[in-house]
Amino acid sequence: MIPPRQEFASDNTAGICPEAAAALAEANAGSAPSYGDDKWTGLLCDRVRKLFEIDCDVFLVFNGTAANALALAQLCQPLHSIICHENAHIENDECGACEFYTGGSKLIPTRGTDGKIDLREVEAALLRQHELHSHKPRVISLTQATELGTVYTADEIRKISAFAKKREMLLHLDGARFANAVAALRCAPREITWQAGVDALSFGGTKNGLAAGELVIFFNKQHSADFDYRAKQGGHLASKMRFVAGPWLALLENDVWLKNAQRANDAALRLANGLRDYGVELVFPVESNAVFVRLDAMIARKLRELGWDFYKFIEPDVYRLMCAWSANDEAITALLSDYGSCVSSVR
Ligand SMILES: *Cc1c(COP(=O)(O)O)cnc(C)c1O
Repeated sequence: MIPPRQEFASDNTAGICPEAAAALAEANAGSAPSYGDDKWTGLLCDRVRKLFEIDCDVFLVFNGTAANALALAQLCQPLHSIICHENAHIENDECGACEFYTGGSKLIPTRGTDGKIDLREVEAALLRQHELHSHKPRVISLTQATELGTVYTADEIRKISAFAKKREMLLHLDGARFANAVAALRCAPREITWQAGVDALSFGGTKNGLAAGELVIFFNKQHSADFDYRAKQGGHLASKMRFVAGPWLALLENDVWLKNAQRANDAALRLANGLRDYGVELVFPVESNAVFVRLDAMIARKLRELGWDFYKFIEPDVYRLMCAWSANDEAITALLSDYGSCVSSVR
């Protein structure tokens, strides 16, 4: 049996982009200082400060779960809580890593349409906290782009941060797909981060074309003290950091990160339009690299039989088709054509 085609299963089924692969080979030429004292790590941190146009503190960890959990542990004491969306990765897909690394903080999931936080729901959740009998609300964590493929505008983030500041709360962004959001908004990274009131960002590189490696960025140095110790204790200090930093640097040079994200976003739009032409319902606005569709169970089964792998995301019938940096027209054309065959075969 041929293995199922992975193109639309997830954006981490993709390989390493050529620029990152070349940088990996380049970092492999000879020996270099360890634990982040290599030239690539220094250059990367400077490049990130230039990209965000601010003197921020930058750390490298192996994956997104650690980036989120360590960042949130940094912003919270065990007696604090974190407000997030009910679909948030930190709530559903990280095996309690936030609770584990914070050593007692609580996640408070809230509802909101299209995967976005709704401040009325946040307000209601805050009212349900019983002063010192509940955890003290400390952080709002947003996902950008969201788990449902939508994107918060700068204005939406500013409103949420103003709300947070008024309540002495901090703002964290889970940016596993931050690149896709920036590409979609065509804005400067500062506009949807520190200028909009974001305190800490988990900036994803893996889904954007790396083998591994996410950045944790603190825009306010007041919050980053001893984070290097926290990351080390959590098992997230790479001894051969150049192999994470080198490819990251290659993503940020020549806007490779934005080109990769744009290719993924464009592919999602093409796929969505093609499916809509077949009359398929798009369940959420397609604003980044994810396409959510409602599919008849029979059609979904037939597509899988034809060799496509993809996830059912929301019961009973909402499926996610994800486009990676490596998405290509051939795969989209093939999937659309197979969709057409499935429809005619069940008629
Ligand atoms: C993929 C993803 C992460 C990171 O997941 P890891 O598997 O730990 O790298 C975090 N947040 C969101 C929204 C994601 O989609």
